[in-house]
Amino acid sequence: MRPLGGQLSLDQFQGETPNGPVPMTNIILKFPGTSGKAVVVTGHYDTKPIPMVKFVGANDAGSSTGFLMEFARVAAKMKHADDLYIVFFDGEEAVGQWTATDSLYGSRHLAAKWGADGTLRRIKALINIDMVGDKDLEILNDSNSSQDLRTLIWGVAAKLGDGQYFQQNPSGVDDDHMPFVDAGVNAVDIIDLNYGPNNSYWHTAQDTMDKLSAHSLQVVGDVIVGAVRELEQAH
Ligand SMILES: [Zn+2]
Repeated sequence: MRPLGGQLSLDQFQGETPNGPVPMTNIILKFPGTSGKAVVVTGHYDTKPIPMVKFVGANDAGSSTGFLMEFARVAAKMKHADDLYIVFFDGEEAVGQWTATDSLYGSRHLAAKWGADGTLRRIKALINIDMVGDKDLEILNDSNSSQDLRTLIWGVAAKLGDGQYFQQNPSGVDDDHMPFVDAGVNAVDIIDLNYGPNNSYWHTAQDTMDKLSAHSLQVVGDVIVGAVRELEQAH
């Protein structure tokens, strides 16, 4: 990230997990704007440790990590009216079974920190990216997410001719956007949580590079770059 010229910072904290405290680090890249407002694009880079399974997590969370790295490269060349934050969350995955306290360590930490220092109030939009590499791309229409942001993003997808990858029927999902949604932030989750037959590649040894396609990542990249451009023009 350093050669891109933004402001890079590490947000280090202890995740209080069922296995005890674990040191975790959110990675934050900021391209400063002048409006006083902020647009935030996030995703997680931790991979779930699964005992006895050779889990490499090509999609979860290789795809969100790769997405954010490439998005940062593109964003470095864009003009920024608003502050643009690109955040790599640590600790999205549960250490054991997914619960409210064993999951989303990085996003819960940053939402609390940004609530305390006033950053949350400046956020126009937060877009979280998760599992976007599947060859069979179907972005879930998450009913927990901001309707305004879904309308914006689905509209950009339709304009680019990529509407078929974005589902129309809503369903709800819990992910790194939720600590921000719960704090009143205009936030959306972009996730394909139908990975392989009956989701059988998810959190298994089947989550490998051969299940992914560059085209799926390009579709999501084009749509999110388009959406961020529209957000930066709206005040
Ligand atoms: Zn996962």
